[in-house]
Amino acid sequence: MRVTRRNPDEQHEVAGPKSVRDLLAELDINPETVLVIHDGTLVTRDQVLPDDAEVEIRSVISGGSGGPRCHTCRAPAVIEIAWHNSAFCAACFVEHVRAQVRRAIDAHAMLSYRDRIVVAVSGGKDSLALWDVLLDMGYQVDGFYLGLGIGGYSERSREVCERFAERRGATLHVRELADDFGFDVPDTAGDERRSTCGVCGLSKRYVFNRVALEEGYDAMATGHNLDDEASQLLGNLLRWQVPFLSRQDVALPAGEPVAPDGGSDGHPAPRLAKKVKPLYRLGEREMAAYCLIKGIDYVVEECPLVGGNTVLRYKEALNQIEAASPGTKAQFLFGFLDRVRDEHFPSDQADQAAAVVPCSECEMPTPRPRDGRTPVCAFCRTRARMLRLLDRVPEETGAPAHAGRS
Ligand code: SF4
Ligand SMILES: [Zn+2]
Ligand SMILES: [Zn+2]
Repeated sequence: MRVTRRNPDEQHEVAGPKSVRDLLAELDINPETVLVIHDGTLVTRDQVLPDDAEVEIRSVISGGSGGPRCHTCRAPAVIEIAWHNSAFCAACFVEHVRAQVRRAIDAHAMLSYRDRIVVAVSGGKDSLALWDVLLDMGYQVDGFYLGLGIGGYSERSREVCERFAERRGATLHVRELADDFGFDVPDTAGDERRSTCGVCGLSKRYVFNRVALEEGYDAMATGHNLDDEASQLLGNLLRWQVPFLSRQDVALPAGEPVAPDGGSDGHPAPRLAKKVKPLYRLGEREMAAYCLIKGIDYVVEECPLVGGNTVLRYKEALNQIEAASPGTKAQFLFGFLDRVRDEHFPSDQADQAAAVVPCSECEMPTPRPRDGRTPVCAFCRTRARMLRLLDRVPEETGAPAHAGRS
């Protein structure tokens, strides 16, 4: 493979395939001092580079070369962010990430220091970086990992979350979809109503909300970044998904209890937990760089089932536009959130709250059926379909209240 070092500038030919860790060892480079870039993206130490790879190794510590300088302190920069027209050294880049998270939180009154917060962690760069930033900013924040049963991918994801929690001395709640609900994500392949990613997303939203409420959290935070939100917006606009457009936001308030005097059987009245996305001002690349600079191990491989995920195609389209015209992605999303959404796609939250009732099986909120039928939420309907498909009989209807491990 051809290896270009920057700062100081050097060229090397190295035989591959080889892991990034081994490559750096062979070149006698301290992994803490560099970012490694392959195919335009940052790569982590466990990734294996092919023999024909073109690799750039960029120093993240002061070297006094003539490269770009940090926008803040004038030290040699390790990352340039075209749409901010800025470059940063490692320390100032971490400050830049925190400042963007602070700006997002303050602009949308997302979180307070009194809140107990739970972050949904998947083992990927965004959610672990979010957990890390919020801990560093002094928030009371725990993690929640939902095992989806996607073979080695899910096992590795869980391990990196557990290692992160241990390293930071933080609390991680772990639940397994199969243990609690009798099916996992690969089981959904035979479903004709929803795609695998559709069932996966529904399950994640449902279980996350349920855990947040059961464990008494004030807010749940997800690692959705600028690329996620902009591509979601593009998809919703291309298909004129007006209900989704009116609900697309980076901070959704807690829903009111669906039954004012409590649910049946003496359970507390269910509601929707407050949901926030503090990374919406930061892109994928910034989050990958943050993890590398902070030494956060994350699962780099994509979910093997990602082929069914159309959002990836919208991300690619936006990245092409962004390359030609830096800043377009942010203008697209921020313009929608700040000016367009409320004017043209007003939120119907009040109507939605009035039309929500408890699911007759699990008591979580669900839209009131129009025809007077017994309300059953989308997750319970999907779960029942899965169990029929798999010829499994549920031991009980709905989910046990505290089945997970913490
Ligand atoms: S790619 Fe699809 S199946 Fe895989 S984790 Fe994402 S939503 Fe779930
Ligand atoms: Zn600096
Ligand atoms: Zn239900």
